[in-house]
Amino acid sequence: MSVKGKIAWNLMTTKVSKVLFQASYRELMNLVMSTSSSVEEINRKMKDIGFRVGETLLMDYADRIREHAGDFAEFSKTLQLAYKVNSGQFFTNIDISDNKKTIKFTDAACPICEGVSISDMPGLQYCVLVSGVFDAVMKLRGFSAESYQESCRALGDDVCTWTLILRE
Ligand SMILES: [Zn+2]
Repeated sequence: MSVKGKIAWNLMTTKVSKVLFQASYRELMNLVMSTSSSVEEINRKMKDIGFRVGETLLMDYADRIREHAGDFAEFSKTLQLAYKVNSGQFFTNIDISDNKKTIKFTDAACPICEGVSISDMPGLQYCVLVSGVFDAVMKLRGFSAESYQESCRALGDDVCTWTLILRE
Protein backbone atom coordinates (compact mmCIF):
# COMPACT_ATOMS: atom_id res chain seq x y z
CA MET A 1 0.00 0.00 0.00
CA SER A 2 1.39 3.38 -0.91
CA VAL A 3 1.97 6.03 1.70
CA LYS A 4 -0.61 8.14 -0.03
CA GLY A 5 -3.14 5.36 0.30
CA LYS A 6 -2.76 4.84 4.01
CA ILE A 7 -5.66 5.71 6.21
CA ALA A 8 -5.11 6.12 9.93
CA TRP A 9 -8.20 4.16 11.00
CA ASN A 10 -6.65 2.94 14.23
CA LEU A 11 -6.10 6.41 15.57
CA MET A 12 -9.75 7.30 15.48
CA THR A 13 -11.61 4.14 16.41
CA THR A 14 -12.58 3.51 20.00
CA LYS A 15 -13.43 0.02 21.23
CA VAL A 16 -16.59 -1.49 22.63
CA SER A 17 -17.18 -4.79 24.43
CA LYS A 18 -17.58 -7.70 22.01
CA VAL A 19 -20.24 -9.25 24.24
CA LEU A 20 -22.19 -6.00 24.19
CA PHE A 21 -21.90 -5.83 20.40
CA GLN A 22 -22.93 -9.46 19.91
CA ALA A 23 -25.89 -9.19 22.28
CA SER A 24 -27.08 -5.99 20.60
CA TYR A 25 -26.68 -7.54 17.14
CA ARG A 26 -28.63 -10.60 18.23
CA GLU A 27 -31.50 -8.50 19.55
CA LEU A 28 -31.50 -6.42 16.37
CA MET A 29 -31.70 -9.64 14.36
CA ASN A 30 -34.52 -10.95 16.57
CA LEU A 31 -36.47 -7.73 16.05
CA VAL A 32 -35.95 -7.82 12.28
CA MET A 33 -36.99 -11.50 12.24
CA SER A 34 -40.18 -10.80 14.15
CA THR A 35 -41.13 -7.98 11.80
CA SER A 36 -40.36 -9.73 8.51
CA SER A 37 -42.37 -12.25 6.53
CA SER A 38 -39.51 -14.06 4.76
CA VAL A 39 -35.84 -14.88 5.06
CA GLU A 40 -35.20 -12.75 1.97
CA GLU A 41 -36.80 -9.78 3.68
CA ILE A 42 -34.65 -10.29 6.78
CA ASN A 43 -31.49 -10.49 4.67
CA ARG A 44 -32.42 -7.37 2.73
CA LYS A 45 -33.21 -5.36 5.86
CA MET A 46 -29.99 -6.40 7.59
CA LYS A 47 -27.98 -5.49 4.48
CA ASP A 48 -29.71 -2.10 4.31
CA ILE A 49 -28.88 -1.54 7.97
CA GLY A 50 -25.28 -2.50 7.20
CA PHE A 51 -25.19 0.11 4.44
CA ARG A 52 -26.25 2.80 6.88
CA VAL A 53 -23.80 1.52 9.49
CA GLY A 54 -21.12 1.75 6.80
CA GLU A 55 -22.03 5.34 6.04
CA THR A 56 -21.69 6.20 9.72
CA LEU A 57 -18.38 4.35 10.07
CA LEU A 58 -17.03 6.14 7.02
CA MET A 59 -18.13 9.63 7.90
CA ASP A 60 -14.73 10.63 9.24
CA TYR A 61 -12.85 9.01 6.35
CA ALA A 62 -15.06 9.98 3.44
CA ASP A 63 -12.75 12.50 1.81
CA ARG A 64 -9.71 10.29 2.08
CA ILE A 65 -11.52 7.22 0.76
CA ARG A 66 -12.78 9.14 -2.27
CA GLU A 67 -9.20 10.10 -3.05
CA HIS A 68 -7.83 6.70 -2.20
CA ALA A 69 -5.32 5.41 -4.72
CA GLY A 70 -5.43 1.99 -6.24
CA ASP A 71 -7.71 -0.20 -8.28
CA PHE A 72 -10.54 -2.43 -7.15
CA ALA A 73 -8.35 -5.41 -6.25
CA GLU A 74 -5.83 -3.23 -4.45
CA PHE A 75 -8.62 -1.64 -2.46
CA SER A 76 -9.10 -5.01 -0.75
CA LYS A 77 -6.12 -4.09 1.44
CA THR A 78 -7.96 -1.04 2.69
CA LEU A 79 -10.97 -3.19 3.48
CA GLN A 80 -8.76 -5.66 5.32
CA LEU A 81 -7.43 -2.84 7.46
CA ALA A 82 -10.89 -1.43 8.09
CA TYR A 83 -12.13 -4.89 9.10
CA LYS A 84 -9.25 -5.29 11.52
CA VAL A 85 -9.92 -1.93 13.12
CA ASN A 86 -13.63 -2.53 13.51
CA SER A 87 -13.69 -6.24 14.38
CA GLY A 88 -10.33 -6.66 16.12
CA GLN A 89 -9.21 -9.33 13.66
CA PHE A 90 -8.08 -9.73 10.07
CA PHE A 91 -9.96 -11.66 7.44
CA THR A 92 -8.70 -15.25 7.42
CA ASN A 93 -8.37 -15.12 3.66
CA ILE A 94 -8.80 -12.72 0.76
CA ASP A 95 -9.21 -14.33 -2.63
CA ILE A 96 -8.96 -12.16 -5.75
CA SER A 97 -10.07 -13.65 -9.07
CA ASP A 98 -7.69 -13.74 -12.05
CA ASN A 99 -9.58 -10.95 -13.82
CA LYS A 100 -9.46 -8.94 -10.57
CA LYS A 101 -13.17 -8.29 -10.62
CA THR A 102 -14.24 -10.59 -7.82
CA ILE A 103 -12.93 -10.48 -4.27
CA LYS A 104 -13.91 -13.01 -1.65
CA PHE A 105 -13.35 -12.08 1.99
CA THR A 106 -13.37 -14.99 4.40
CA ASP A 107 -13.47 -15.06 8.19
CA ALA A 108 -13.23 -18.43 9.90
CA ALA A 109 -13.97 -16.80 13.26
CA CYS A 110 -16.57 -14.19 12.36
CA PRO A 111 -17.29 -12.25 15.57
CA ILE A 112 -20.93 -11.68 14.60
CA CYS A 113 -21.63 -15.40 14.21
CA GLU A 114 -19.60 -16.52 17.23
CA GLY A 115 -21.71 -18.79 19.39
CA VAL A 116 -24.70 -18.56 17.05
CA SER A 117 -26.23 -21.67 15.50
CA ILE A 118 -29.38 -21.43 13.43
CA SER A 119 -30.80 -24.53 11.80
CA ASP A 120 -34.44 -23.67 11.16
CA MET A 121 -34.02 -20.72 8.78
CA PRO A 122 -32.28 -21.92 5.59
CA GLY A 123 -31.02 -19.06 3.43
CA LEU A 124 -30.62 -16.68 6.34
CA GLN A 125 -27.46 -14.59 6.09
CA TYR A 126 -26.79 -13.85 9.72
CA CYS A 127 -23.80 -11.54 9.22
CA VAL A 128 -24.93 -9.98 5.92
CA LEU A 129 -24.62 -6.61 7.63
CA VAL A 130 -20.95 -6.77 6.63
CA SER A 131 -22.00 -6.89 2.95
CA GLY A 132 -24.00 -3.73 3.46
CA VAL A 133 -20.95 -2.02 4.92
CA PHE A 134 -18.93 -3.13 1.87
CA ASP A 135 -21.56 -1.63 -0.42
CA ALA A 136 -21.31 1.70 1.37
CA VAL A 137 -17.51 1.73 1.05
CA MET A 138 -17.68 0.80 -2.63
CA LYS A 139 -20.15 3.54 -3.35
CA LEU A 140 -18.08 6.12 -1.54
CA ARG A 141 -14.88 5.04 -3.28
CA GLY A 142 -16.66 5.34 -6.63
CA PHE A 143 -16.56 1.66 -7.59
CA SER A 144 -19.60 0.23 -9.28
CA ALA A 145 -19.64 -2.95 -7.26
CA GLU A 146 -21.97 -5.00 -5.17
CA SER A 147 -21.50 -7.54 -2.47
CA TYR A 148 -23.37 -10.52 -1.19
CA GLN A 149 -22.91 -13.10 1.51
CA GLU A 150 -21.81 -16.44 0.15
CA SER A 151 -21.50 -18.55 3.30
CA CYS A 152 -22.27 -18.11 6.98
CA ARG A 153 -21.00 -19.93 10.04
CA ALA A 154 -24.16 -19.24 12.01
CA LEU A 155 -26.00 -21.35 9.42
CA GLY A 156 -23.49 -24.20 9.60
CA ASP A 157 -20.88 -23.26 6.99
CA ASP A 158 -17.20 -23.60 7.90
CA VAL A 159 -16.48 -19.93 7.32
CA CYS A 160 -18.25 -16.66 6.65
CA THR A 161 -17.63 -15.38 3.14
CA TRP A 162 -18.60 -12.02 1.68
CA THR A 163 -18.08 -11.64 -2.03
CA LEU A 164 -17.57 -8.35 -3.85
CA ILE A 165 -18.12 -8.12 -7.59
CA LEU A 166 -17.00 -5.21 -9.75
CA ARG A 167 -19.51 -4.42 -12.50
CA GLU A 168 -18.38 -3.38 -15.95
ZN1 LIG B 1 -20.53 -14.52 10.18
